[in-house]
Amino acid sequence: MAFQPHDDDHEFARWVTDRAAELDTTPGEPGRVDRALLQGLGESGLLSALFPGTVDDGPPREAPATRLCLLREHLAGVDTHAETALALQGLGTYPLLQSGTDRQRKRWVPEAAAGRAVAAFALTEPEAGSDAAALELRAEPSGDGWRLHGEKTWISNAPDADFYTVFARTTPGTRSRGVTAFCVPADRPGLSGEPLEMLSPHALGHLVFDGVEVGSDDLVGAPDEGFSVAMRTLDLFRPSVGAFAVGMARAALAAAKEHTAGRRAFGGTLAALQTVSHTLAEMATRTEAARLLVYAAAEEYDSGGPDVTLKAAMAKLFATETAQYVVDSAVQLHGARALHRGHLLEHLYREVRAPRIYEGASEVQRQIIARHM
Ligand SMILES: Cc1cc2nc3c(=O)[nH]c(=O)nc-3n(C[C@H](O)[C@H](O)[C@H](O)COP(=O)(O)OP(=O)(O)OC[C@H]3O[C@@H](n4cnc5c(N)ncnc54)[C@H](O)[C@@H]3O)c2cc1C
Repeated sequence: MAFQPHDDDHEFARWVTDRAAELDTTPGEPGRVDRALLQGLGESGLLSALFPGTVDDGPPREAPATRLCLLREHLAGVDTHAETALALQGLGTYPLLQSGTDRQRKRWVPEAAAGRAVAAFALTEPEAGSDAAALELRAEPSGDGWRLHGEKTWISNAPDADFYTVFARTTPGTRSRGVTAFCVPADRPGLSGEPLEMLSPHALGHLVFDGVEVGSDDLVGAPDEGFSVAMRTLDLFRPSVGAFAVGMARAALAAAKEHTAGRRAFGGTLAALQTVSHTLAEMATRTEAARLLVYAAAEEYDSGGPDVTLKAAMAKLFATETAQYVVDSAVQLHGARALHRGHLLEHLYREVRAPRIYEGASEVQRQIIARHM
């Protein structure tokens, strides 16, 4: 059942939690795209909430940032695997939704929203991570189009995705001003890749472009303006990484509250020890502060405010760092059992690490914030 966008946020959050609880989240092959899960996300309506045009048969359009954050926060509270699969469909498809052609949108957005086509966002290269403007994957003019030569790495959903938004160098020596975005279907000759095994079983891989042909139909936005295509998507997705982190922090906090209320030691419960209850208070306060920053950034985006980039950076920085602290504290309060393979906190401990690095490491967010001050 599709969710109607006019319902209020609490109802929406409850709807997300209920749908998420019904998903079959039996883990697929670690580190590979879980197509059964994506199809389940499509059938549940959760993916269509990310792509509102597919809900009401209007033209595909952006989900409000607040909705995207609610989706990610509440899905993360139930299942991080499903949350990540959903978010990556958004990250890979939004460049087309925001900056692509009608033809690209019609070809890929309904399929991505149904969970039948897998999307990926290919910006990072072996020699260009935090400094994304240094990217070197070449788009060499060839006939009416270009040929792509080079590598992308740490790309979520690679090499299993069905289409990639690829950011390539069209004008050498111009940093962010000479980058062009292309939509590259995975079956283009010359495109190959291999999976990379990560700390958490995140679907992710390395891609090689050996003369992959692209034409003007594949352009996403104008030539040499690809960097703003990437930044437009990241401005929306950065607060939502914060929402994912808040979802994990809330799950860890709930587990810690429950455990310390029941665990007996020194003639009482752990929660009755003042240092334990103060740790819980600190965890709760920081989580709430992170949540407020995330939704302030989402509101700024939705209202077209002047500080979208600044607030997105603050939200992503604070929420991901907070989630690391909260999950680590919850592990500490649980003792050995949290480290037992299969425990919720063992899982969250591995999951919480990467968001401090991807979509701009914490240091890069601080740099953005400092630049805006
Ligand atoms: C799970 C996961 C999923 C990912 N998915 C994608 C994806 O879908 N698409 C994609 O394009 N990329 C993706 N990435 C790549 C990610 O965006 C990069 O890893 C990130 O931008 C950092 O680049 P890097 O790893 O090369 O680190 P580097 O750029 O080498 O930086 C290493 C460290 O140096 C420090 N540092 C960097 N810059 C500064 C600075 N200005 N000031 C101070 N310190 C600094 C930071 O501590 C940083 O962590 C993913 C990464 C991970 C881990």
